[in-house]
Amino acid sequence: MLFGSTRVRTAPAPVRSTSLIKALCLCLSLVLFPLSAAPPAAADSTAAPLTSHLESCLAAPGVRRDVEVVEDPTPEPTDDPLFHTHYDTDVLGKVFEDGAWQTRFRVYYQGQQHALAVKVADLLTRFYCYGRERLDPSGAFISPVHSIAMPDGSERAEPTNFYLDNGHPGGGRESDGRMYMLQSSTPRNPLEVVREVAHEFSHLTVPGIHEFSDSAAPEDWLNGYLGESLYMEWLGDDTEQTVIPAATVSNWSAGRQRVLEDAFLKLGPQRLLREPAAHFWEVAGLLLYLKQLYGTEAMARVLKFSNDFRRNTASAITLNMDDALSTEKWDSVTVPGGLAAPIDGDADPGANPQNSVSIAPGAAVRAWVFLHAGAHRLKIAVDGVNWRLRGARIGSGKAWAPLGTVTAGTASIDFPASGSGWYETQWRNTGSQPMNLLGWTWQRATGEGTKQ
Ligand SMILES: [Zn+2]
Repeated sequence: MLFGSTRVRTAPAPVRSTSLIKALCLCLSLVLFPLSAAPPAAADSTAAPLTSHLESCLAAPGVRRDVEVVEDPTPEPTDDPLFHTHYDTDVLGKVFEDGAWQTRFRVYYQGQQHALAVKVADLLTRFYCYGRERLDPSGAFISPVHSIAMPDGSERAEPTNFYLDNGHPGGGRESDGRMYMLQSSTPRNPLEVVREVAHEFSHLTVPGIHEFSDSAAPEDWLNGYLGESLYMEWLGDDTEQTVIPAATVSNWSAGRQRVLEDAFLKLGPQRLLREPAAHFWEVAGLLLYLKQLYGTEAMARVLKFSNDFRRNTASAITLNMDDALSTEKWDSVTVPGGLAAPIDGDADPGANPQNSVSIAPGAAVRAWVFLHAGAHRLKIAVDGVNWRLRGARIGSGKAWAPLGTVTAGTASIDFPASGSGWYETQWRNTGSQPMNLLGWTWQRATGEGTKQ
């Protein structure tokens, strides 16, 4: 027994704020700018990954160990296909799946690296479970498990190999469905071990977007860097102590995601969508920002559409967003106040920057949201004294449309049909007291009327 209890717990759903807005301020102003969609890319089809239904991987605590690492009872000497290094020893990463323990990973090592091999195998099995739980429901988890044909015509699921290679320089590497940690005996910060494993695993399991012309892009495919922040976020949700404290990996992932989202917001959707291929990190930020707005499932759906029809180029990102979010499920989106950034004056993040923003008198904030074509109803809830909504401007932004007075309670404002794209919303506190903005909700009108 190497890891006595390696159960993984289902993480809470992504934080979504409510539309309740507590306020002490008096006035708001709101600005909208639609953006055009990217040109369509050629459609094609790809072979579906081998998938199997998974129910038990993240079973409730106390039910069963769902991932585990064990010694290989029958180790077979092997040479890795890339460097032809010889290995005599390995450990197995197992997942309880389809009603039985399945060997999903073999981690090969040499010499004194048994402990590191166990850590890597533990991470791989957990990442596998997180991917199945969080990406697979949207069809966005590419299983690393491959089937091989047997002489009798049947198929056998083949584990994925990971090699601890001490004979070659470098960090992590993925090659033809196999993963490596190079210079494996070089001391590493545990966080870096986690990141390298998450990064290489992401190259195998997260749909890729590529063909960037960005000179700042560290590699052609986005899935390594995008996926590592996702898998590390989910590892941070794990209530079990793993190879690293959950808070450490959570903080790292949250910080990385914030940096990428800020890069996207700083550039702005207009500039990004004019030339998405030129902005590797900003496209990652866009997808993570979309996760904040619509949730993990929606972001995963965008990745799935990127993968399904070989629309996996950076320039197809808006087309994939449009298709992925076109169902009724995404007709409503709540923008957390914490996503709003100051324009001028004082605007301080609230106690929880994900959920609210404090706006001083005279100050303004803005936030971007991706909306589908159609008429929309903006819904806000006011708690406290009267608010007065100064107006709104749409499109060119030259004309203000008076929208009347909003008193205490819930207010709805209808906007006429407009095109699909990113919209900027601005809120200005023209009152004399600070205002705490938690968020606001856009509801797309469907059919005859507007849904409530
Ligand atoms: Zn990479």
